[in-house]
Amino acid sequence: MAQNNYLGKIFKTIEKYKLVENNDKVFVALSGGKDSLAALFALKKFKEEKNLNFELIGFHIDLGTVGSEKIREIVEKQCELLGVKLIVFDLNKEGINLSEVAKRKRRPVCSVCGVIKRYLMNKIPRELGATKIATGHHGDDMLVFFIKNILGMNFSWIGKFKPKVESNNQKLLTKIRPLFFVGRRENEEFVKGFGIPYVQESLCIYFKDKQRLYEKTNKWYDIFDNLENEMPGFKERLLNSIIKMSEYFESEEELKSCKVCGEPTNTEICAFCRLTWK
Ligand code: AMP
Ligand code: ZN
Repeated sequence: MAQNNYLGKIFKTIEKYKLVENNDKVFVALSGGKDSLAALFALKKFKEEKNLNFELIGFHIDLGTVGSEKIREIVEKQCELLGVKLIVFDLNKEGINLSEVAKRKRRPVCSVCGVIKRYLMNKIPRELGATKIATGHHGDDMLVFFIKNILGMNFSWIGKFKPKVESNNQKLLTKIRPLFFVGRRENEEFVKGFGIPYVQESLCIYFKDKQRLYEKTNKWYDIFDNLENEMPGFKERLLNSIIKMSEYFESEEELKSCKVCGEPTNTEICAFCRLTWK
């Protein structure tokens, strides 16, 4: 019953926001963790139950750090158990070494990793014919991103706080977030039941660098959980308001093409090339 309710919420999100359509080729960005596994599972179930004709492909970026091999094996297992084709992009094989880039640019590994992942999660699937990229971002993530952006007076992202971020550029994939209306705990409960392995966040060797950030995020999660307990339905109402609000912040700005790699960017040279250019 609980599972039906969980999947029901996700199916409603997929249908209401037209996250997938017939003939789509959806790449699901898989980190190995519970959230992206839940997104893959739910999309697969949706496809089967609604008898739709779209393609689902797992996409994993092997970050080439200590422990990455283990994570990659887990992602491979997830896709094998779900009968989904997997494409792996191996950073080391492509000549990118995260810790070396971080050292050279004097930036934390986690921030370098974020830039590189965002860039490749668009470029590689697009080159392989994807029409959309799905991620495991969930409702709690959205609420915390939102509040952090508001407090930091950074309004430039608010236009993207919705279940589907439509592409406004030929080279930019439409991003979909099927888990927009479910939370991290529900995802965990859901995936625990299937015996499909998944990775704990702390497996990343750079987890220590991010510890403070995680602690802060967890505090925010608790605050939103408490508000939800006090006022059932609070999270859903706020998420719906955020979606409405995002309409007022949609960027009209046309993206440029990076002078080095030609990928879409709002600066002359994209963040990825600025990092990896020697
Ligand atoms: P994060 O930014 O690490 O919280 O991850 C957000 C989303 O990005 C996850 O839910 C996944 O969909 C995707 N993702 C994170 N890491 C990877 C990875 N190594 N390979 C592919 N997708 C990833
Ligand atoms: Zn570039």
